[in-house]
Amino acid sequence: VTASLQQALAGLNPGQREAVLHQSSPLLILAGAGSGKTRVITVKIAYQIEALGHDPRSILAVTFTNKAAGEMRERAAGLAERAGDVTIRTFHSFGAWMLRRNADVAGLPRGFSIYDDSDAVSLLHSLFPERKRPDLARYSQAISRAKDYCLTPEDDLLEISEDPDLPRIYAAYQKRLEEIGNVDFGDLIMRPVKLLESEPAVAQRLQSRFRSILVDEYQDSNVAQYRLLRALCDQTTFVCVVGDDDQSIYRFRGAEVQNILSFSRIFPGTRVVKLEQNYRSTAPILDLAGAVVARNEGRLGKHLYTERTEGDVPRLILLGDQDQEVSWVIEQVRSCQREDRPGVTAVLYRTNAQSRPFETALLREGIPYRIVGSLRFYEREEVKDAVAFLRFLANPRDEVGFRRIVNKPARGIGAKTLDRLLQHQGVARGDLRRACEYGLGEVSKKAALALKEFLQVFDEMERRLEGDQDAELTPAGEKTLASAVEHLLEISGLSRYHQEQDQIAGTQKLQNLEELVNAASLYPLSREGLVEFLEAIELDSSRDVASSEDARVVLITMHNTKGLEFDRVIITGLEEGLFPRNDDPRELEEERRLFYVAVTRAHQEVTLTSCRRRRLHGRFMDLLPSRFLAEIPRDLVQVESFQGGDRASLQDGSPWQKGTPVYHDDYGSGIVIRSWQAGAERCVEVRFETGMTGQFFPAYDSSLERV
Ligand code: ATP
Ligand code: MG
Repeated sequence: VTASLQQALAGLNPGQREAVLHQSSPLLILAGAGSGKTRVITVKIAYQIEALGHDPRSILAVTFTNKAAGEMRERAAGLAERAGDVTIRTFHSFGAWMLRRNADVAGLPRGFSIYDDSDAVSLLHSLFPERKRPDLARYSQAISRAKDYCLTPEDDLLEISEDPDLPRIYAAYQKRLEEIGNVDFGDLIMRPVKLLESEPAVAQRLQSRFRSILVDEYQDSNVAQYRLLRALCDQTTFVCVVGDDDQSIYRFRGAEVQNILSFSRIFPGTRVVKLEQNYRSTAPILDLAGAVVARNEGRLGKHLYTERTEGDVPRLILLGDQDQEVSWVIEQVRSCQREDRPGVTAVLYRTNAQSRPFETALLREGIPYRIVGSLRFYEREEVKDAVAFLRFLANPRDEVGFRRIVNKPARGIGAKTLDRLLQHQGVARGDLRRACEYGLGEVSKKAALALKEFLQVFDEMERRLEGDQDAELTPAGEKTLASAVEHLLEISGLSRYHQEQDQIAGTQKLQNLEELVNAASLYPLSREGLVEFLEAIELDSSRDVASSEDARVVLITMHNTKGLEFDRVIITGLEEGLFPRNDDPRELEEERRLFYVAVTRAHQEVTLTSCRRRRLHGRFMDLLPSRFLAEIPRDLVQVESFQGGDRASLQDGSPWQKGTPVYHDDYGSGIVIRSWQAGAERCVEVRFETGMTGQFFPAYDSSLERV
């Protein structure tokens, strides 16, 4: 045994050690956040190699992301010399590996390609050209969901969708996919399952190769992945899964928390190990995380404690608007720098598009940051498309912008047409809109029509820049660029195009475009305003502080924080409609788990921010505080309010006690059913006559009144 492994073993607590040593039956490690589940898997890999003398090639470890696989590989290599030979992959990458190895038996060409979601829609389109793309996107999604459950076209698909056409469309799609010898993402799991179930020789070969299988983040596996795991195991395979039912946050992608709940039943003789000590966070942080998730029903319920009982009480910062939120975050980062406090601050948000204002501010302050799991805002495809349109509007000589957008979204202007047009560039003195006009007569009729429409976009936008009826006003009473940009996104077809992409691939491109509209609302509606806006974008994009690997600020969506840890965590945007996204009761439980994941990433400090107003569609809209805030018992957070507003109701004793009749502008009459102090703020829960209940901070919500 290497010295480093010996040290790692000595550092384990009894439950962790038991989990590392246990080999005689299936093992389920069911434990809360930060209890060392991932660490146990990593040490166990090394232990199996070094202490038990297992062949590293006989070990398969499955992680949730490729990045997590990389980290596990690195850590394991530090503990056991030959850990490099262990197969550490995601389920999908393992499936692809397996299909390549067994391409012949699987009936696939060795060089098969993997279709992504938009390839899948294109394939559907070639089969059903008469159907609209958004419809096909829906079918594509249904097919992929069916594959998450390992359902073939012949199976009963009613659980997936009641659409009577689905089986026929799925069958045609699958047949064609097989004919051309490619696979989609769902196939990367489902085809290996079918292969293992129908080809005993293949199953036997893999079962005798992988004698030990370990799966991290098992609560987010789907049914097909569970079937794959099962099919890889024979009577004697050692199987170990680890997970936390409270951290299941991918149900919308087919994850089945049931997998972990029923593991012991399906693998007889399972040893269940619960880890109860959290090594990541302080007690006040765990209390906060636990309080919110405790509201969920149907949890297994776990005990989690920490020896780090001292620590700052998490803060709840109530802010007037989103600009204040950004300034507040920057000030936190600055004060860490000033006081030379070590470690990383992570700024978390619910949707990807929310990174924009933080990025802009960090760039302007010259503070290096790292954005995890996505591109920087202005590098995102859809944002670059929109900016290219704006640049070409501002400057018809911008060839780079022109080339990017002349046929995006596709309007039938091909490379040949483009060459033709560019020949007129000289005569038009570089003005590419003029060059297009000159070239109109020389290109095909169809291309000419498309070009005219393309040029009209800019004519219309020129008019808009002169004066726009719908424009939003700045606080100073000026018209802003926001509605013009919104209009451009409409008439250029970009919004529609990216919305379709979103439906196809489950991305959030449209939200990024909407966020660009918000950014535009800071500039006046005029040609100069447009130029200023573009200049700001260019300056921000060329500032190079962002890429630094050792940046002490991380921007990240809550979903992407899975499995990670940071010294300080700031969870932003705790407002109804943003987080939680909506109030569908089933989704609400998942949002609460997401909150739990987010809070439990922190070593030292958690801060929640909530704004009263936020920019939506280019103007400030009033928002209600997230209901999660009202679910936090009063002594678990320290509230600091920078919202201003009428504080009178705060001071006069407890005028909002239980039984107080109230009226809300949106929800009508109701009665206070609960009232408590959340830090410095009073919070009330109201049941309305409609039967709906809601939680409010009356001091900051003028739409709620006592009657
Ligand atoms: P999550 O649920 O968030 O995935 P996890 O259960 O996988 O968390 P780990 O990431 O393995 O937890 O561990 C959390 C932190 O606690 C890590 O920094 C890890 O190094 C540390 N840790 C785990 N076990 C111990 C231990 N016995 N002694 C000291 N530190 C530990
Ligand atoms: Mg983990």
